[in-house]
Amino acid sequence: MPEAPKILSDSADFINGIVVENNNKVLKFIEDVTADADEVQRQVLSEILSRSANVEYLQRYGLDGCTDRETFKKVIPVVTYEDLKPDIERIANGDTSPILCSQPISEFLTSSGTSAGERKLMPTIEEELGRRSLLYSLLMPVMSQFLPGLDKGKGMYFLFVKSEAKTPGGLVARPVLTSYYKSSHFKNRPNDPYTNYTSPKETILCLDSYQSMYSQLLCGLFQNEDVVRVGAVFASGFIRAIQFLEKHWSLLCKDIRTGTIDSKITDPSVREAVMKILKPNPKLADFVEAECSKGSWKGIITRLWPETKYIDVIVTGTMSQYIPALDYYSNALPLVCTMYASSECYFGINLNPLCSPSEVSYTLIPNMAYFEFLPVTRKDELTGSISEPTALNDKEKQQLVDLVDVKLGQDYELVVTTYAGLYRYRVGDILRASGFKNKAPQFNFICRKNVVLSIDSDKTDEVELQNAVKNAANQLLQYEASLVEYTSYADTSAIPGHYVLFWELSVKDSTLIAPSVFEDCCFTVEESLNSVYRQGRVCDKSIGPLEIRVVENGTFDMLMDFALSQGSSINQYKTPRCVKYAPIIELLNSRVISSYFSPKCPRWTAGHKQWCTQN
Ligand code: AMP
Repeated sequence: MPEAPKILSDSADFINGIVVENNNKVLKFIEDVTADADEVQRQVLSEILSRSANVEYLQRYGLDGCTDRETFKKVIPVVTYEDLKPDIERIANGDTSPILCSQPISEFLTSSGTSAGERKLMPTIEEELGRRSLLYSLLMPVMSQFLPGLDKGKGMYFLFVKSEAKTPGGLVARPVLTSYYKSSHFKNRPNDPYTNYTSPKETILCLDSYQSMYSQLLCGLFQNEDVVRVGAVFASGFIRAIQFLEKHWSLLCKDIRTGTIDSKITDPSVREAVMKILKPNPKLADFVEAECSKGSWKGIITRLWPETKYIDVIVTGTMSQYIPALDYYSNALPLVCTMYASSECYFGINLNPLCSPSEVSYTLIPNMAYFEFLPVTRKDELTGSISEPTALNDKEKQQLVDLVDVKLGQDYELVVTTYAGLYRYRVGDILRASGFKNKAPQFNFICRKNVVLSIDSDKTDEVELQNAVKNAANQLLQYEASLVEYTSYADTSAIPGHYVLFWELSVKDSTLIAPSVFEDCCFTVEESLNSVYRQGRVCDKSIGPLEIRVVENGTFDMLMDFALSQGSSINQYKTPRCVKYAPIIELLNSRVISSYFSPKCPRWTAGHKQWCTQN
């Protein structure tokens, strides 16, 4: 298997030669690992299975120490999180025997995918941090092929940690990025011009989202002339930073002018780290003030950070809804999606990072995990839903193909076998094979299976939405009103975005229903939605209050007529539970009689509900 590149660094002075040498090593590694993709995959699987020969899960299915693909595919089932839940709960409750993995589970990564309204728990092991670091180390050498000089400036990245919880058995449970930023791989990373950020690590590691954002912006503004690239993980996070700046620029300018930090920033380690950077700079304060107080914020990114060459954020999948806002704020700087990853596993990178967002394809890096692909077919172009088999029958199981065998243009659900104890696990992402790098396929990210609504990292599926709406609509019965039809829409025209529900009612006397009844309905929907949604509302403030728009009677008949006129079949027509197509949203909006917002935040606490009751 091609060996991962050993990155050279010289802590005193990272000289040009070393940068070039490292870049070449990384590019050679990518060449090798993609040219030999099938053999690398064979070795990855064999390595995973030989290490895990003793684990209970594999023994349960009678793998019996075999490490070859054929036997593995024959005896090991293709599973979802629900299938693994009992095993994962045993680990969470403190069972340290080798249930899924022979190595000790070091922590749980809390995925933004949910199960029964709670975040999924992904077991991980210490060495996975190395694998994640490897994927990160590939990004900038690839980028540098297209944009030289990135080693001469800094990156202004808005990075955040989230709160963590402990499982009843004492394992930490936290999001994968929180785990990574708190690890020595990030905190004690070697001196490298490509990980030279404007934000000191203390500002990233501060749990208070206001203090973290404020101090990162302050440092970014103060070093504005050094910044050559800006970014965040997802587009939504970057736009949040710009909105924060719109609200707080005068306070930030005051700090830049005087070389002090606002008293609201109370975390001593943040204050100390920022004070190492900040000096009084009245000229810069005047400049920032003048730019921010101009009426328009069009192009604010290039105005304040004039050397910026691109914005590094994920704008694929549901994040594409933020592209117009990013174009506006940046005067259409390139939007670069560098990688595709999840709590389960880091998957791949974009080898053509300056391509347009609609053309982004990710090359899966064959030594990250063992990958398989389940073919899927698109059911309904209008609603974008995917027909997906739930439990696979034997025939469907045989349809799974290996990495090098995917067919161009075909959609697949990604299935992974990881070093950390997932075997033939359905990730839930739908990918379309769009090309090849040597023997390794490249994929467009199409969508997350079943997800209907998403603003930030929340992923609400149709069933969750249905239950939440049902809970709320029950409250109308006492007013002799009932819900006839509904659909939903993620409104990101303002920041933060919010969920909108369009409701058509059957009601005897609408004057009997006070606005507060509908506001309570909004709140009940929010209370019924999953923990990632509620965290976005309460803690991150990345999602605004949910809105119900009551529409005139007959609106959903018009919606059906519209769908039929666009070619939907009358026999198969079902009301879409989420709409994205602009003419449909326009139609619905033109029929709104009244609208209501949730009056308060729903409840949210870190960790699973049942852990709180056990403690
Ligand atoms: P999490 O489990 O919370 O880490 O979320 C991982 C999920 O985020 C993936 O399974 C995808 O659905 C989504 N995701 C990650 N990277 C990308 C990307 N580059 N483009 C689109 N969606 C992504």
